[in-house]
Parts: sequence; structure tokens; C-alpha cells
Amino acid sequence: MTYGLISDIHSNLEALTATLAELAGVDAFLCLGDIVGYGPDPAACVDRIREQPHLTCIAGNHDLATLDDRHLKWFNPYARRAIEWTRSQLSADQTAYLTALQETAQVDNAFLVHGSLPEHMDYITSVDRAMDCFEAMSGSLCLVGHTHIAEYYSNRPGSRVCEQVSLLSGGEILLEPEVRYIVNPGAVGQPRDRNPAAGCGIYDTEARTLKILRVSYEVSVVQEKMRRVGLPDDLADRLTFGR
Ligand code: ZN
Repeated sequence: MTYGLISDIHSNLEALTATLAELAGVDAFLCLGDIVGYGPDPAACVDRIREQPHLTCIAGNHDLATLDDRHLKWFNPYARRAIEWTRSQLSADQTAYLTALQETAQVDNAFLVHGSLPEHMDYITSVDRAMDCFEAMSGSLCLVGHTHIAEYYSNRPGSRVCEQVSLLSGGEILLEPEVRYIVNPGAVGQPRDRNPAAGCGIYDTEARTLKILRVSYEVSVVQEKMRRVGLPDDLADRLTFGR
């Protein structure tokens, strides 16, 4: 079984389209949240995601903030403005789709959560934070998004040693038995690891491999749309640099 891994699409239709083309042929899709927020095409991205065959999709903090002010608390002014605009763009049906998303899912042996464990919207930004997640997880594979940084952490149960490996240029992980992994495929729509190409992955359960890919797309097309609808310049500019 092969799963296409996508996360943090952030209303970036050009990045999503290029990513789905790259992942064509997978058996099923796992989406790790944040379909909307920041970008200019929230409605089209919700529709494109939900039409994918055999999809399991969980909620990210931007999806939740679109639905409920309580989740806006930690948002900077640019992110908040984009969420307020996003609300005006979604149909009742698209909003209902986001409302129905759960915060976690279990698919095969993979546990899906947007941010971390035990707190679903925490950021895994260090080996210490990764250890918190390893201690809270029960299986051997946790798939996360949220930081927009393609990387993985590995740990042997019972050990405090945790390895952090960057995947900013892509790469392949051979999943060893007796080792636990937290894998972040990076962001489709707003990478922050200094590589502006969209991040995604392919999880092959038989080969026990997890491949991370970076996919180029026309960043300037998205930036032009963002300026046209009045989204903050900072949100458009950062896409050039992947920051
Ligand atoms: Zn995000």
C-alpha cells in the first residue's frame, strides 16, 4: 500500500496541483491538516483535497481557526487577517467539511496529528519536543506537519537518544523495526526550511520506506493572486524564500 503524504497546503492551489501530479499513482492519501489559511485559494483547495480517493484528513490549527475564534489566540496579525478573509471565501458546504475533520487519525501503523503529542497543536522544533511526542505515542510511526519543515526524528523505545535529520532536499527513510519515527513531510503551500519547493511524501507500507519529495511550482502565480485579493505582502513575499 502506498500513501501520498501532504500537509500545510495553506490555500496554495498551484503548489497543491503540482504536488498531486507528483504523487499520481499512490493508493491513498494522508493529509495532516492546514488546508486553508495564508493563501489565495481556500475554497478550491478544500474541494481538491476532499475529492482525492481514499483520503484520510485531519484538522490543523488554521482549519480550526477558520471555524472558531478561540483558535485564533496565538495567531500573528498577518495570519489572523488571512483567516478572516478565508472565512468569507468558503461555502457552507466547505466549512462543514472542515468542521467534520478530527484532530487525530490512525491509518495502518501510522498515527496522524497536525502538531505533536500529547498536545495536538504543539510544535516539534527540537529533539526535546520530539521526545515529549515519543513518550506520548503508542505506535512506531507518527506523521506530523505544523512546523512546515521537512525532517524526521528517530528513537529506540526505552532510550533517551533522539536523532533529528533534515529532509529539506528530500530523501528516503528506511523504517527499521525496533525504531520509532516522527516524520514531517514539510509544507505543500508555505515551506519554511529555506527551500521554496512544495514538500510531500510517499509512505510505502510493504517496502517500509518513507520518501520525501520537493516539488517546484510557479510561486509568482500564487503571489500575484495574493496581492490581487489583498492578502498581506509579507505572506506573499515569504514564499519566494521558503521562510
Ligand atoms: Zn501550517
